[in-house]
Amino acid sequence: MPAVISDHQVFAPNDLAEALQFMADHRDESWCPVAGGTDVMRRIYGNRADAKRWINLAPLRDELAGIHDDGGRIRIGSLTTMTELRQSAVLHNVCPLIRQAATSTGVVQSQNRATVGGRIISASPAGETLSVWLALDAEIELTSLRGKRCVPCEQFMTGRRQTAIATDELLTAVLIPVSKHPSQRMLFRKVASRSAGAIAKVVLAAIAGLDDDGRYRDVRLAFGGMSPIPLRAHAAEQLVEGNRPCESLGERAAIVLTRDLSPVDDHRSTADYRLRAARNLTRAIIAGRIGRAVGLDLS
Ligand SMILES: Cc1cc2nc3c(=O)[nH]c(=O)nc-3n(C[C@H](O)[C@H](O)[C@H](O)COP(=O)(O)OP(=O)(O)OC[C@H]3O[C@@H](n4cnc5c(N)ncnc54)[C@H](O)[C@@H]3O)c2cc1C
Repeated sequence: MPAVISDHQVFAPNDLAEALQFMADHRDESWCPVAGGTDVMRRIYGNRADAKRWINLAPLRDELAGIHDDGGRIRIGSLTTMTELRQSAVLHNVCPLIRQAATSTGVVQSQNRATVGGRIISASPAGETLSVWLALDAEIELTSLRGKRCVPCEQFMTGRRQTAIATDELLTAVLIPVSKHPSQRMLFRKVASRSAGAIAKVVLAAIAGLDDDGRYRDVRLAFGGMSPIPLRAHAAEQLVEGNRPCESLGERAAIVLTRDLSPVDDHRSTADYRLRAARNLTRAIIAGRIGRAVGLDLS
């Protein structure tokens, strides 16, 4: 049975304050925000939508879109689109990882509409930008009439398509600490049928520094597609920390990945293929075979 759009109601607030007041007043009436609509419309037309009452966030773009370097951290408004991430001069200089992830996400048409906030709330297991937020130790800013709170990204995604957001809250920004390590390097890799326009089988966002002694410091390995939610491979991170890049370190890091990752078979790939791909990437990166300098790639 096709979805009947005229059954749906839309409220369009004038600003953030009005949106939050509306959400507080109607919190038990199943109103849901809609930002770019790329996920919501797919769900509506597939008869899988969670709601029939929508709060259109598009009028809030002046307040909730944009990328700002505040010195100690970068603030990315929740209505910033994938295209804006891709084209940002701020991110080009400070965090190319985000631009790489946004570029490999969906197709240009969906990048023009899909927002940072919508992608996080969708909490897809293979979301490209989600792995990047995890690797960057980003915080998720949530706002309601009760005030603002910030939740570490790792605690925010609680399960497949589930997050810690409350029914009267909006996701208003992603906050990224700027690196304290001058030697920090970053790498993003997506394994999929095509480099863009295809949902990922495996995503890896890797960050690490090298100290004066040539040893890895502050290692972060975040994977998508390898469990119900994107997650950090903490066992491998700990194993690598404080060691010099070499083949045997890469091999050992690849082996301990199974402590954190639990891939499954689905229509996009098999668990076995996903684990092999994740291991091959980890081995090559940690051994220093991919990219330059510490084995990570700044391009
Ligand atoms: C052609 C196509 C290709 C795609 N390719 C990919 C891909 O490669 N990788 C991928 O991960 N996804 C992909 N998607 C899925 C989709 O684009 C993403 O999930 C997208 O980022 C959702 O963002 P949006 O702004 O469109 O969210 P919407 O559809 O507007 O909303 C998604 C969810 O987030 C909630 N929401 C949105 N904004 C807020 C907010 N500020 N505060 C609270 N709740 C909010 C909504 O209520 C809804 O539950 C694709 C979709 C299409 C149509």
